[in-house]
Amino acid sequence: MFDCIVVGAGPAGSTTAYQLAKRGRSVLLLEKHTLPRYKPCTGAVAPSIASWLDFDITPAIDQKLRRISYTWQLDDPIEAELETDEPMWIVRRDIFDQYLVEQATRLGVTVKDGTSALSIKFQDQTWTVNTEHGSFVAHYLIAADGADGPMAKWLGFKSEKVRQGYVLEIDLSEPVASPTMSFEFGLVKQGCLWNFPKSQRQSLGAVRFLGGNLKHPEQSLATYAQALGGDAEAGTLYSHGLKLWSGNRPLHTQQALLVGEAAALVDPMTAEGIRPAIFSGIQAATAIDNALNGDDQALANYSQTIHSIWGNDIQWSQRIASVFFRMQKIGYRVGIKRPTATKRLGQLLAGEIRYADLANRVIKRISGSFLPG
Ligand SMILES: Cc1cc2nc3c(=O)[nH]c(=O)nc-3n(C[C@H](O)[C@H](O)[C@H](O)COP(=O)(O)OP(=O)(O)OC[C@H]3O[C@@H](n4cnc5c(N)ncnc54)[C@H](O)[C@@H]3O)c2cc1C
Repeated sequence: MFDCIVVGAGPAGSTTAYQLAKRGRSVLLLEKHTLPRYKPCTGAVAPSIASWLDFDITPAIDQKLRRISYTWQLDDPIEAELETDEPMWIVRRDIFDQYLVEQATRLGVTVKDGTSALSIKFQDQTWTVNTEHGSFVAHYLIAADGADGPMAKWLGFKSEKVRQGYVLEIDLSEPVASPTMSFEFGLVKQGCLWNFPKSQRQSLGAVRFLGGNLKHPEQSLATYAQALGGDAEAGTLYSHGLKLWSGNRPLHTQQALLVGEAAALVDPMTAEGIRPAIFSGIQAATAIDNALNGDDQALANYSQTIHSIWGNDIQWSQRIASVFFRMQKIGYRVGIKRPTATKRLGQLLAGEIRYADLANRVIKRISGSFLPG
Protein backbone atom coordinates (compact mmCIF):
# COMPACT_ATOMS: atom_id res chain seq x y z
CA MET A 1 0.00 0.00 0.00
CA PHE A 2 1.37 3.39 -1.02
CA ASP A 3 0.58 6.71 0.64
CA CYS A 4 -0.19 8.10 -2.81
CA ILE A 5 -0.45 6.99 -6.43
CA VAL A 6 0.24 9.67 -9.03
CA VAL A 7 -1.08 8.96 -12.53
CA GLY A 8 0.95 10.73 -15.23
CA ALA A 9 4.68 11.57 -15.28
CA GLY A 10 4.54 15.06 -16.80
CA PRO A 11 5.78 18.08 -14.82
CA ALA A 12 2.66 18.07 -12.58
CA GLY A 13 2.94 14.38 -11.66
CA SER A 14 6.71 14.31 -11.18
CA THR A 15 6.62 17.44 -9.04
CA THR A 16 3.86 16.06 -6.82
CA ALA A 17 5.70 12.75 -6.47
CA TYR A 18 9.02 14.49 -5.70
CA GLN A 19 7.51 16.79 -3.10
CA LEU A 20 5.68 13.94 -1.36
CA ALA A 21 8.78 11.75 -1.30
CA LYS A 22 10.71 14.68 0.17
CA ARG A 23 8.24 14.60 3.07
CA GLY A 24 8.92 10.88 3.58
CA ARG A 25 5.76 9.63 1.86
CA SER A 26 5.68 6.45 -0.26
CA VAL A 27 4.67 7.25 -3.83
CA LEU A 28 3.97 5.27 -6.99
CA LEU A 29 4.23 7.26 -10.23
CA LEU A 30 2.45 5.61 -13.18
CA GLU A 31 3.12 6.64 -16.79
CA LYS A 32 1.44 5.07 -19.80
CA HIS A 33 4.32 5.79 -22.20
CA THR A 34 7.81 4.34 -22.02
CA LEU A 35 10.10 6.98 -20.49
CA PRO A 36 11.62 9.23 -21.61
CA ARG A 37 8.55 10.32 -23.54
CA TYR A 38 7.94 13.30 -25.81
CA LYS A 39 4.98 15.58 -25.06
CA PRO A 40 3.78 17.77 -27.95
CA CYS A 41 4.70 21.21 -26.61
CA THR A 42 6.93 24.07 -27.72
CA GLY A 43 8.68 24.13 -24.35
CA ALA A 44 8.97 27.76 -23.22
CA VAL A 45 9.36 27.79 -19.45
CA ALA A 46 9.12 30.82 -17.19
CA PRO A 47 12.39 31.02 -15.25
CA SER A 48 10.42 32.04 -12.16
CA ILE A 49 9.88 28.30 -11.46
CA ALA A 50 13.50 28.14 -10.25
CA SER A 51 12.52 29.74 -6.95
CA TRP A 52 10.14 26.82 -6.25
CA LEU A 53 12.70 24.07 -6.85
CA ASP A 54 15.35 22.83 -4.41
CA PHE A 55 17.49 21.20 -7.12
CA ASP A 56 19.47 22.56 -10.04
CA ILE A 57 17.24 22.55 -13.11
CA THR A 58 19.87 23.93 -15.53
CA PRO A 59 20.85 20.53 -17.02
CA ALA A 60 17.27 20.27 -18.35
CA ILE A 61 17.32 23.62 -20.18
CA ASP A 62 18.13 23.55 -23.89
CA GLN A 63 18.68 27.27 -24.27
CA LYS A 64 17.90 30.67 -22.83
CA LEU A 65 16.56 33.35 -25.13
CA ARG A 66 15.85 37.06 -24.91
CA ARG A 67 15.10 38.09 -28.46
CA ILE A 68 11.50 38.03 -29.68
CA SER A 69 10.06 38.95 -33.05
CA TYR A 70 6.41 39.44 -33.91
CA THR A 71 4.65 39.63 -37.28
CA TRP A 72 1.16 40.30 -38.55
CA GLN A 73 0.43 38.04 -41.55
CA LEU A 74 4.20 37.58 -41.98
CA ASP A 75 4.58 41.34 -42.36
CA ASP A 76 4.84 44.48 -40.19
CA PRO A 77 7.65 42.95 -38.08
CA ILE A 78 8.61 44.04 -34.59
CA GLU A 79 11.80 43.04 -32.80
CA ALA A 80 12.11 43.24 -29.04
CA GLU A 81 14.15 41.90 -26.12
CA LEU A 82 13.02 40.60 -22.75
CA GLU A 83 14.40 42.91 -20.09
CA THR A 84 14.06 40.49 -17.19
CA ASP A 85 17.14 39.42 -15.19
CA GLU A 86 16.82 35.88 -16.49
CA PRO A 87 15.98 35.16 -20.16
CA MET A 88 13.18 32.78 -21.16
CA TRP A 89 14.06 29.09 -20.83
CA ILE A 90 13.46 26.84 -23.78
CA VAL A 91 13.29 23.11 -23.05
CA ARG A 92 12.90 19.89 -24.99
CA ARG A 93 10.05 18.14 -23.27
CA ASP A 94 11.53 14.63 -23.54
CA ILE A 95 14.65 15.87 -21.70
CA PHE A 96 12.98 18.29 -19.25
CA ASP A 97 10.25 15.87 -18.16
CA GLN A 98 12.71 12.99 -17.79
CA TYR A 99 14.94 15.15 -15.61
CA LEU A 100 11.99 15.83 -13.28
CA VAL A 101 11.18 12.10 -13.14
CA GLU A 102 14.83 11.39 -12.24
CA GLN A 103 14.65 13.84 -9.32
CA ALA A 104 11.58 11.98 -8.02
CA THR A 105 13.29 8.60 -8.48
CA ARG A 106 16.34 9.90 -6.59
CA LEU A 107 14.11 10.52 -3.55
CA GLY A 108 12.66 7.01 -3.66
CA VAL A 109 9.52 7.37 -5.78
CA THR A 110 8.60 4.07 -7.47
CA VAL A 111 8.18 4.77 -11.19
CA LYS A 112 6.34 2.38 -13.48
CA ASP A 113 6.39 3.48 -17.10
CA GLY A 114 4.64 1.71 -19.94
CA THR A 115 1.82 1.31 -17.42
CA SER A 116 -1.58 2.90 -18.10
CA ALA A 117 -4.19 3.44 -15.45
CA LEU A 118 -7.08 1.46 -16.97
CA SER A 119 -9.64 1.98 -14.21
CA ILE A 120 -9.86 3.16 -10.61
CA LYS A 121 -11.96 2.09 -7.62
CA PHE A 122 -12.55 3.63 -4.19
CA GLN A 123 -13.25 1.08 -1.47
CA ASP A 124 -12.58 0.86 2.29
CA GLN A 125 -11.05 4.35 2.31
CA THR A 126 -8.38 3.42 -0.27
CA TRP A 127 -7.91 3.86 -3.99
CA THR A 128 -7.11 0.95 -6.29
CA VAL A 129 -5.62 1.70 -9.71
CA ASN A 130 -5.89 -1.15 -12.20
CA THR A 131 -3.25 -1.38 -14.93
CA GLU A 132 -2.13 -3.96 -17.47
CA HIS A 133 0.71 -4.79 -15.04
CA GLY A 134 -1.47 -5.38 -12.00
CA SER A 135 -3.45 -3.40 -9.42
CA PHE A 136 -1.95 -0.89 -6.98
CA VAL A 137 -3.46 0.49 -3.80
CA ALA A 138 -2.94 3.80 -2.00
CA HIS A 139 -4.56 6.11 0.53
CA TYR A 140 -4.54 9.06 -1.89
CA LEU A 141 -4.72 9.49 -5.64
CA ILE A 142 -3.41 12.27 -7.89
CA ALA A 143 -4.73 12.80 -11.41
CA ALA A 144 -1.77 14.23 -13.32
CA ASP A 145 -2.66 12.70 -16.65
CA GLY A 146 -2.85 15.91 -18.67
CA ALA A 147 -5.42 17.17 -21.16
CA ASP A 148 -6.05 13.84 -22.85
CA GLY A 149 -6.12 11.55 -19.80
CA PRO A 150 -9.25 9.88 -18.38
CA MET A 151 -8.76 10.48 -14.64
CA ALA A 152 -10.80 13.67 -14.13
CA LYS A 153 -13.82 12.00 -15.69
CA TRP A 154 -13.34 8.79 -13.69
CA LEU A 155 -13.17 10.86 -10.50
CA GLY A 156 -16.53 12.43 -11.34
CA PHE A 157 -15.39 15.95 -12.33
CA LYS A 158 -17.36 17.91 -14.89
CA SER A 159 -15.70 17.58 -18.29
CA GLU A 160 -13.72 20.58 -19.56
CA LYS A 161 -13.49 21.71 -23.15
CA VAL A 162 -10.42 20.17 -24.81
CA ARG A 163 -9.14 22.10 -27.83
CA GLN A 164 -6.36 20.88 -30.10
CA GLY A 165 -2.86 22.34 -30.16
CA TYR A 166 -0.33 21.55 -32.89
CA VAL A 167 3.46 21.37 -32.92
CA LEU A 168 5.73 21.05 -35.93
CA GLU A 169 9.19 19.85 -34.88
CA ILE A 170 11.96 20.30 -37.46
CA ASP A 171 15.33 18.83 -36.54
CA LEU A 172 18.31 20.72 -37.96
CA SER A 173 21.75 19.41 -38.71
CA GLU A 174 23.36 22.66 -37.55
CA PRO A 175 22.65 24.86 -34.53
CA VAL A 176 20.04 27.59 -35.15
CA ALA A 177 21.85 30.80 -36.13
CA SER A 178 20.85 33.76 -33.90
CA PRO A 179 17.90 31.98 -32.28
CA THR A 180 14.88 34.23 -31.75
CA MET A 181 11.50 33.43 -30.28
CA SER A 182 8.81 34.49 -32.74
CA PHE A 183 5.06 34.97 -32.81
CA GLU A 184 2.81 35.36 -35.84
CA PHE A 185 -0.68 36.81 -35.47
CA GLY A 186 -3.15 37.06 -38.33
CA LEU A 187 -2.27 33.93 -40.30
CA VAL A 188 -4.67 31.88 -38.18
CA LYS A 189 -8.08 32.96 -36.97
CA GLN A 190 -8.48 33.78 -33.25
CA GLY A 191 -5.15 32.22 -32.44
CA CYS A 192 -1.48 32.45 -33.26
CA LEU A 193 1.59 30.65 -34.53
CA TRP A 194 4.93 30.74 -32.78
CA ASN A 195 8.43 29.30 -32.83
CA PHE A 196 10.58 28.60 -29.79
CA PRO A 197 13.85 27.39 -31.33
CA LYS A 198 15.89 24.75 -29.54
CA SER A 199 19.63 24.49 -30.13
CA GLN A 200 19.18 22.11 -33.07
CA ARG A 201 15.46 22.16 -33.70
CA GLN A 202 12.68 24.48 -34.72
CA SER A 203 9.54 23.97 -32.62
CA LEU A 204 6.56 25.69 -34.17
CA GLY A 205 3.23 25.83 -32.38
CA ALA A 206 -0.31 26.63 -33.50
CA VAL A 207 -3.42 27.07 -31.39
CA ARG A 208 -6.80 28.69 -31.88
CA PHE A 209 -7.70 30.16 -28.49
CA LEU A 210 -11.37 31.02 -29.13
CA GLY A 211 -14.17 29.23 -30.98
CA GLY A 212 -13.47 25.90 -32.69
CA ASN A 213 -10.15 24.31 -33.56
CA LEU A 214 -7.80 25.41 -36.36
CA LYS A 215 -8.98 24.28 -39.78
CA HIS A 216 -5.70 23.50 -41.60
CA PRO A 217 -2.91 23.71 -39.03
CA GLU A 218 -0.45 21.79 -41.22
CA GLN A 219 -0.76 24.41 -43.99
CA SER A 220 -0.42 27.38 -41.62
CA LEU A 221 2.58 25.80 -39.89
CA ALA A 222 4.24 24.96 -43.22
CA THR A 223 3.79 28.56 -44.41
CA TYR A 224 5.22 29.88 -41.17
CA ALA A 225 8.12 27.41 -41.18
CA GLN A 226 9.00 28.47 -44.70
CA ALA A 227 8.86 32.16 -43.74
CA LEU A 228 11.34 31.39 -40.94
CA GLY A 229 13.64 29.55 -43.34
CA GLY A 230 12.65 26.04 -42.24
CA ASP A 231 11.60 23.04 -44.29
CA ALA A 232 8.20 21.79 -43.13
CA GLU A 233 8.60 18.63 -45.24
CA ALA A 234 11.50 17.60 -43.03
CA GLY A 235 9.46 18.07 -39.88
CA THR A 236 7.01 15.99 -37.85
CA LEU A 237 3.57 17.32 -36.99
CA TYR A 238 2.08 16.45 -33.59
CA SER A 239 -1.25 17.35 -32.05
CA HIS A 240 -2.37 17.21 -28.45
CA GLY A 241 -5.35 18.31 -26.39
CA LEU A 242 -5.19 21.59 -24.52
CA LYS A 243 -7.34 22.34 -21.49
CA LEU A 244 -7.33 26.10 -21.09
CA TRP A 245 -8.43 27.53 -17.74
CA SER A 246 -12.09 28.52 -17.95
CA GLY A 247 -13.15 29.20 -14.37
CA ASN A 248 -12.44 28.22 -10.76
CA ARG A 249 -13.82 24.74 -10.05
CA PRO A 250 -13.27 22.30 -7.18
CA LEU A 251 -10.10 20.29 -7.80
CA HIS A 252 -10.56 17.83 -4.93
CA THR A 253 -12.78 14.89 -4.21
CA GLN A 254 -12.67 11.89 -1.87
CA GLN A 255 -8.93 11.39 -1.12
CA ALA A 256 -8.00 12.57 -4.63
CA LEU A 257 -6.82 15.75 -6.38
CA LEU A 258 -6.44 17.05 -9.93
CA VAL A 259 -3.14 18.74 -10.81
CA GLY A 260 -1.64 20.42 -13.88
CA GLU A 261 -3.52 20.18 -17.12
CA ALA A 262 -5.86 17.51 -15.74
CA ALA A 263 -7.09 20.43 -13.62
CA ALA A 264 -7.36 22.70 -16.71
CA LEU A 265 -4.85 25.24 -15.39
CA VAL A 266 -3.37 26.34 -18.76
CA ASP A 267 -3.15 30.10 -19.39
CA PRO A 268 -5.90 30.96 -21.94
CA MET A 269 -3.82 33.79 -23.45
CA THR A 270 -0.45 32.07 -23.91
CA ALA A 271 -1.03 28.28 -23.56
CA GLU A 272 1.51 28.29 -20.74
CA GLY A 273 0.95 25.06 -18.83
CA ILE A 274 4.32 23.96 -17.40
CA ARG A 275 4.53 26.60 -14.68
CA PRO A 276 0.98 25.96 -13.36
CA ALA A 277 1.65 22.20 -13.57
CA ILE A 278 4.68 22.56 -11.28
CA PHE A 279 2.94 25.05 -9.00
CA SER A 280 -0.11 22.81 -8.55
CA GLY A 281 2.13 19.76 -7.99
CA ILE A 282 3.85 21.54 -5.10
CA GLN A 283 0.53 22.62 -3.57
CA ALA A 284 -0.99 19.14 -4.03
CA ALA A 285 1.91 17.46 -2.22
CA THR A 286 1.49 19.83 0.73
CA ALA A 287 -2.23 19.07 0.80
CA ILE A 288 -1.80 15.27 0.67
CA ASP A 289 0.90 15.40 3.34
CA ASN A 290 -1.39 17.47 5.59
CA ALA A 291 -4.27 15.09 4.91
CA LEU A 292 -2.10 12.10 5.85
CA ASN A 293 -1.33 13.97 9.06
CA GLY A 294 -5.06 14.10 9.82
CA ASP A 295 -6.09 17.53 8.48
CA ASP A 296 -9.58 16.89 7.09
CA GLN A 297 -9.70 20.28 5.35
CA ALA A 298 -6.38 19.81 3.52
CA LEU A 299 -7.81 18.80 0.15
CA ALA A 300 -10.43 21.55 0.16
CA ASN A 301 -7.65 23.98 1.04
CA TYR A 302 -5.77 22.83 -2.08
CA SER A 303 -8.67 23.87 -4.33
CA GLN A 304 -8.87 27.16 -2.45
CA THR A 305 -5.14 27.85 -2.81
CA ILE A 306 -5.13 27.15 -6.56
CA HIS A 307 -8.19 29.37 -7.00
CA SER A 308 -6.81 32.27 -5.00
CA ILE A 309 -3.23 32.22 -6.31
CA TRP A 310 -3.63 31.00 -9.92
CA GLY A 311 -7.31 31.15 -10.88
CA ASN A 312 -8.09 34.61 -9.56
CA ASP A 313 -5.31 36.13 -11.66
CA ILE A 314 -5.68 33.92 -14.71
CA GLN A 315 -9.32 35.01 -15.04
CA TRP A 316 -7.85 38.36 -16.18
CA SER A 317 -5.78 36.56 -18.79
CA GLN A 318 -8.99 34.97 -20.04
CA ARG A 319 -10.62 38.40 -20.32
CA ILE A 320 -7.67 39.82 -22.24
CA ALA A 321 -7.67 36.76 -24.54
CA SER A 322 -11.37 37.08 -25.29
CA VAL A 323 -10.88 40.69 -26.47
CA PHE A 324 -7.44 40.30 -28.07
CA PHE A 325 -8.20 37.20 -30.16
CA ARG A 326 -11.54 38.67 -31.33
CA MET A 327 -9.92 41.92 -32.49
CA GLN A 328 -6.50 40.60 -33.32
CA LYS A 329 -5.54 43.18 -35.91
CA ILE A 330 -6.28 46.06 -33.55
CA GLY A 331 -4.67 44.10 -30.72
CA TYR A 332 -1.49 43.80 -32.79
CA ARG A 333 -1.46 47.51 -33.63
CA VAL A 334 -2.30 48.97 -30.23
CA GLY A 335 -1.02 46.15 -28.00
CA ILE A 336 1.83 44.07 -29.40
CA LYS A 337 3.43 47.00 -31.22
CA ARG A 338 3.76 49.03 -28.04
CA PRO A 339 7.35 49.07 -26.79
CA THR A 340 6.12 48.06 -23.34
CA ALA A 341 4.36 44.87 -24.57
CA THR A 342 7.43 42.61 -24.40
CA LYS A 343 8.54 44.21 -21.15
CA ARG A 344 5.17 43.35 -19.59
CA LEU A 345 5.26 39.79 -21.00
CA GLY A 346 8.65 39.26 -19.37
CA GLN A 347 7.43 40.71 -16.07
CA LEU A 348 4.37 38.46 -16.14
CA LEU A 349 6.44 35.33 -16.69
CA ALA A 350 8.92 36.43 -14.05
CA GLY A 351 6.05 36.81 -11.60
CA GLU A 352 6.87 40.51 -11.12
CA ILE A 353 3.40 41.64 -12.19
CA ARG A 354 0.03 39.92 -12.46
CA TYR A 355 -2.57 39.91 -15.23
CA ALA A 356 -4.89 41.83 -12.90
CA ASP A 357 -2.39 44.74 -12.97
CA LEU A 358 -2.66 44.98 -16.77
CA ALA A 359 -6.06 43.76 -17.83
CA ASN A 360 -8.18 46.88 -17.58
CA ARG A 361 -5.66 49.03 -19.45
CA VAL A 362 -5.14 46.43 -22.22
CA ILE A 363 -8.84 45.75 -22.71
CA LYS A 364 -9.68 49.48 -22.77
CA ARG A 365 -6.92 50.15 -25.28
CA ILE A 366 -8.07 47.44 -27.69
CA SER A 367 -11.81 48.02 -27.39
CA GLY A 368 -11.32 51.83 -27.32
CA SER A 369 -9.55 51.64 -30.70
CA PHE A 370 -12.45 49.66 -32.10
CA LEU A 371 -15.05 52.29 -31.21
CA PRO A 372 -15.58 55.00 -33.85
CA GLY A 373 -13.92 58.25 -32.78
C1 LIG B 1 0.80 22.99 -28.99
C2 LIG B 1 1.14 23.15 -27.53
C3 LIG B 1 2.19 23.99 -27.18
C4 LIG B 1 2.47 24.23 -25.83
N1 LIG B 1 3.51 25.04 -25.51
C5 LIG B 1 3.77 25.31 -24.20
C6 LIG B 1 4.88 26.12 -23.84
O1 LIG B 1 5.65 26.59 -24.70
N2 LIG B 1 5.09 26.37 -22.53
C7 LIG B 1 4.25 25.88 -21.55
O2 LIG B 1 4.46 26.18 -20.37
N3 LIG B 1 3.22 25.06 -21.88
C8 LIG B 1 2.96 24.75 -23.16
N4 LIG B 1 1.95 23.89 -23.48
C9 LIG B 1 1.15 23.28 -22.39
C10 LIG B 1 1.95 22.17 -21.70
O3 LIG B 1 2.47 21.29 -22.67
C11 LIG B 1 1.04 21.37 -20.75
O4 LIG B 1 0.15 22.23 -20.08
C12 LIG B 1 1.87 20.60 -19.72
O5 LIG B 1 2.55 19.55 -20.35
C13 LIG B 1 0.96 20.04 -18.62
O6 LIG B 1 1.74 19.23 -17.77
P1 LIG B 1 1.04 18.01 -17.01
O7 LIG B 1 2.09 17.38 -16.20
O8 LIG B 1 -0.20 18.49 -16.35
O9 LIG B 1 0.54 17.03 -18.17
P2 LIG B 1 1.38 16.27 -19.30
O10 LIG B 1 2.68 16.90 -19.51
O11 LIG B 1 0.45 16.17 -20.47
O12 LIG B 1 1.62 14.85 -18.69
C14 LIG B 1 0.55 13.94 -18.49
C15 LIG B 1 1.11 12.54 -18.53
O13 LIG B 1 0.08 11.62 -18.17
C16 LIG B 1 0.25 10.45 -18.97
N5 LIG B 1 -1.03 9.71 -18.97
C17 LIG B 1 -2.18 10.05 -19.61
N6 LIG B 1 -3.11 9.12 -19.38
C18 LIG B 1 -2.55 8.18 -18.59
C19 LIG B 1 -3.02 6.97 -18.02
N7 LIG B 1 -4.28 6.53 -18.21
N8 LIG B 1 -2.19 6.24 -17.24
C20 LIG B 1 -0.90 6.67 -17.04
N9 LIG B 1 -0.40 7.80 -17.57
C21 LIG B 1 -1.21 8.56 -18.32
C22 LIG B 1 0.64 11.01 -20.32
O14 LIG B 1 1.27 10.03 -21.13
C23 LIG B 1 1.58 12.13 -19.92
O15 LIG B 1 2.93 11.72 -19.86
C24 LIG B 1 1.67 23.61 -24.82
C25 LIG B 1 0.65 22.72 -25.17
C26 LIG B 1 0.40 22.48 -26.52
C27 LIG B 1 -0.70 21.49 -26.89
